[in-house]
Amino acid sequence: MSKVALITPITGQDGSYLAELLLKKGYTVHGIGGNVVQLNAGNAGSNFHDKSSDLHIYAHADISTGTARDLLAIIRPDEVYNLGGTGQSPESSDLGDELFSTGEFSALKVLEAIRVLGLETKTRYYHASPSALCGLVNGIAINEMVSLNIYPSWYASAISDFWAIVNYRETFGLYACSGILFNHESPRRSENFVTRKITRSLANITQGLEKCLHLGNLNALRDWGHARDYVKMQWLMLQQDSPEDFVVATGVQYTVRQFVTFAALELGIKLRFTGKGVEERGIITAIISPVAAALKVGDVVVAVDPRYIRPAEACEVSANPTKARRKLGWAPETSLQDMVIEMVQADLACAKKAARLKLYG
Ligand code: GDP
Repeated sequence: MSKVALITPITGQDGSYLAELLLKKGYTVHGIGGNVVQLNAGNAGSNFHDKSSDLHIYAHADISTGTARDLLAIIRPDEVYNLGGTGQSPESSDLGDELFSTGEFSALKVLEAIRVLGLETKTRYYHASPSALCGLVNGIAINEMVSLNIYPSWYASAISDFWAIVNYRETFGLYACSGILFNHESPRRSENFVTRKITRSLANITQGLEKCLHLGNLNALRDWGHARDYVKMQWLMLQQDSPEDFVVATGVQYTVRQFVTFAALELGIKLRFTGKGVEERGIITAIISPVAAALKVGDVVVAVDPRYIRPAEACEVSANPTKARRKLGWAPETSLQDMVIEMVQADLACAKKAARLKLYG
């Protein structure tokens, strides 16, 4: 009998990578959000239809009249992956919902459904907690202990989810755990996030579709890993003898400016940054590949725009994933440089297609 997993939502970056991983492992996968056509269209590279008999998708519209309990009663999953709290960039217009919503698939509602349906010994629950859960922590390498001393944070619903999981684990003995995932990116990342904004915009600039990449704080330090590596950790967390929370990160930080520099180099552009604060600019000093042949030395392709500088945020995010390494043997497989190459090449292919359409359309 194959294992049965429920992923919600399945449409985003993490849901799509996780679904691919579980289908490969022989699971039957149920996913909430969208349909297979949307999944394939929205997630370059995902290829669900090959194994569609093991994949069942529920559009949001289908479940809006039902409850988490109804769905769990029908599916009776071995594993539930609730990725809804993965976090939304503050540039997103959905921010209000993200911070304060307690939807049908909040941790509390799903855990209560597992309990009431008598699935306590069958169903294991994974919850993606955003690293922003820990609030404005600057310069401290966040591990599982820091996460338990939650600092002031806007992520009200994420905090209530986090403690609901601790309570159901300790009070009712459910197998329930939180993964505190630091920034994880890929070509499937939404453009609200800085990495994808950078790779897409620079690729567009080489093809004459945009002139300049406008960013906020170039000094911000982040710990960026590849989403494909992080979903393996989500799965591993549900395969242990007992449930525990884990920090998932690479342990290595880079600035936004460094990410820009790596992405530009992959496109054949050498950059020099001049000026300070909102006056800072990224100027081309050399073109080293025909990909960027339409540009020239001296072009300003990066500028700081105060609209993207956040009034309150943790500027130096640092994480300590030692526990994941020690207890689960997990380590990220993809370096930042390899991830940048993958993202840039995917965006470059799209930019070239768009440029051709513009020329002949
Ligand atoms: P976050 O760490 O979950 O907020 O992920 P983001 O990708 O949205 O932001 C990562 C860092 O990049 C933050 O410190 C942002 O302030 C910084 N940043 C600088 N410019 C931008 C921008 O134009 N957009 C976004 N989203 N972030 C930016």
